[in-house]
Amino acid sequence: MKIKKYVAPTMPEAMRKIRKDLGSDAVILNSKEVRNGGFLGLFKKRNIEVIAALDPEPEKREKKATPSSQSYPMPKRPHLENENRSVLDEIQHLKKLIAQQNRQFDSYPPDYQVVFQYLLDQELEEDLAREIVDAVVNKHEEQKDQKAFNEILEDTRLEITKRLKTLSFTGITFDKQIVHFVGPTGVGKTTTLAKVAAHNMLKQRKQIAFVTVDTYRIAAIDQLRTYADILDVPLEVAYDINDYLQALDQFKDYDLILVDTAGRNFRDKRYINELKQSIVFNDTVETYLVLSVTAKAKDILDVYEQFRQIPIKELIFTKVDETNQYGSILNLALKHQLGVACLTNGQNVPDDIITPSPEMISSYVMGGYYDV
Ligand code: GDP
Repeated sequence: MKIKKYVAPTMPEAMRKIRKDLGSDAVILNSKEVRNGGFLGLFKKRNIEVIAALDPEPEKREKKATPSSQSYPMPKRPHLENENRSVLDEIQHLKKLIAQQNRQFDSYPPDYQVVFQYLLDQELEEDLAREIVDAVVNKHEEQKDQKAFNEILEDTRLEITKRLKTLSFTGITFDKQIVHFVGPTGVGKTTTLAKVAAHNMLKQRKQIAFVTVDTYRIAAIDQLRTYADILDVPLEVAYDINDYLQALDQFKDYDLILVDTAGRNFRDKRYINELKQSIVFNDTVETYLVLSVTAKAKDILDVYEQFRQIPIKELIFTKVDETNQYGSILNLALKHQLGVACLTNGQNVPDDIITPSPEMISSYVMGGYYDV
């Protein structure tokens, strides 16, 4: 792995140097503000120091690879010779079959019951898991030939993909000038906003401004301020609707205004009401609900219930690198007919963000069968 340090006055400049030097596969390991030069400790110049790396053999990287639309992510599995791998897979499957046979009230033939149980283990809601397995069973009954277990797994994946394909998966299109990020505290809203901003500045060359209405946590404002400084983007803090409207007016000539919102206890109904009063939700803005896949599936559905009063365009799921259970994405997307604009898979700004396809999400859900 090649690791290099870059120092530049702004993040975009540092990124340009890195891309030129290391190419588009380079990853950012760390970035921080540094001050150097000056006289007797005075007049020091503010710079951004970025540590970037290039792995000559990226497929061997430890970190979960960012999937492209062609190669879907499969959870990491220990390296084994092919023969051993298939014996191990067979044993895993037999173990699950035996465990399944000890359960009462099985509603499907054993191989299908195992898949049903796997979907429940992925934290899919039971009725949704049942709908999916029912569809696979029906399809196979119509085809009238006995399916190998791998075909059952594959057809389940295809069934999930088919359902996701009925949703809009436009990603953040930036058709609207104002983009809001809402969601519970700690899910990664601010980090995601910084990733989105950096990508737009670098690839689309957009002029961006930040507004935060996160006035409850000083640390949260500081965090966005740091990103604003690094990216050289103006930031306004809005304490009420007037500040917010004034900030929008001030930034009216910018291509994009990204709005970070107060992340407070979503169970507190007052929060949603305050949020509704402190920002504008109409058809001039796009709002994305940011949720972490590491939260409990039930909590994620509860959060959505609180936020559904707000017009949500699509969902953003963060921290896919921290779990092997992705059922929550399906619960929300399929039950509430909402597409997924982004997935984030790490703390690195700006690299750890993916625009997913339906195929990618179904592969996340089904890819871990032999690892559970
Ligand atoms: P906010 O309160 O919703 O604005 O959340 P923050 O943006 O402050 O993020 C909270 C923590 O989650 C920080 O430590 C982030 O670095 C971390 N984080 C954000 N996105 C991801 C991600 O995709 N994966 C991982 N592992 N951590 C993340």
